[in-house]
Amino acid sequence: MKILVLGGAGYIGSHTVSELVDAGEEVVIADNLETGHIEAVNPKAKFYEGDIRNREFIDSVFENEKIDAVIHFAANSLVGESMANPLKYYDNNLYGTKVLLESMVAHGVGKIVFSSTAATYGEPESIPILETDRTEPTNPYGETKLSMEKMMKWTGVAHGLRYVALRYFNACGAHKSGEIGEAHNPETHLIPLILQVPNGQRESVSIFGTDYDTKDGTCVRDYIHVTDLAQAHILAVKYLADGGESNVFNLGNGVGFTVKEVIETARKVTGHPIPAVESPRRGGDPAKLIASSEKARKVLGWNPEHAGLEEIIESAWKWHKTHPHGYAE
Ligand code: UDP
Repeated sequence: MKILVLGGAGYIGSHTVSELVDAGEEVVIADNLETGHIEAVNPKAKFYEGDIRNREFIDSVFENEKIDAVIHFAANSLVGESMANPLKYYDNNLYGTKVLLESMVAHGVGKIVFSSTAATYGEPESIPILETDRTEPTNPYGETKLSMEKMMKWTGVAHGLRYVALRYFNACGAHKSGEIGEAHNPETHLIPLILQVPNGQRESVSIFGTDYDTKDGTCVRDYIHVTDLAQAHILAVKYLADGGESNVFNLGNGVGFTVKEVIETARKVTGHPIPAVESPRRGGDPAKLIASSEKARKVLGWNPEHAGLEEIIESAWKWHKTHPHGYAE
């Protein structure tokens, strides 16, 4: 199959490309390199630099390449930024997807797998979270991702396109080679921030809130290795290629760890004391987010292989200690 990966120079995109290439698929990447990195573009993939909001650009990719399926990562994904600048999210995430779907329909490309998020649920009704639970996003990032899901649904009703939305919980870790990994600027995610301490880039890590109703008062999240997420995309493309109907799946390990447990595990992995400073809550953080991924396991046959927190942090550490400034070095 020839698969177009939009946002293939980003964190989850580059790991998915790597798994696709290893599986022998033909891969075409399109990325505007706004948050993606040219160094993360897999040399075995064909690369087009451009923006999905540019109809001529995306049309030209579909005209040059006979694409069987699209995997769509090209979106902005920071909760805090989305609160400060919601229209940026409506423009890139929603308008970008609208242009993409128009072009797909015009070129007869009818299968798409894309990144959705646990943020589509908002404050959960119950734990673990099921795909059928209420979706009430509490920020524009989650809202635009939920709207992307609905845009695909109605485009499917009208034009027969089929989609799989993958609702990620906390993506983390890095490729086993240590050659690609997480590189955001500014960094806002817990594990890379923790690892900046043993890397000599910050004195301490902040714990955002110690008064949550959880076992040690800090937030609980479901951390899922980026390579396991990548595998789920491959399975989802196969599911659509085999005739599967449009569907939504949670992707997580089904196990929650507190912020304090993550820091403690990072201390063990790095051998560094990693001082932590108890700080006020960060706005908009639910106390607990844990996925039920039973549906992905049953329907897609997904089986996360790097579920241990220690293994996840070890892989992240391998990347960060050799790339303290991301791809800049
Ligand atoms: N967090 C923290 N200190 C930090 C960054 C994050 O305590 O410097 C907490 C955050 O409040 C959340 C968890 O770590 O409970 C995971 O946050 P992250 O931003 O990595 O992912 P999110 O859950 O927001 O998608």
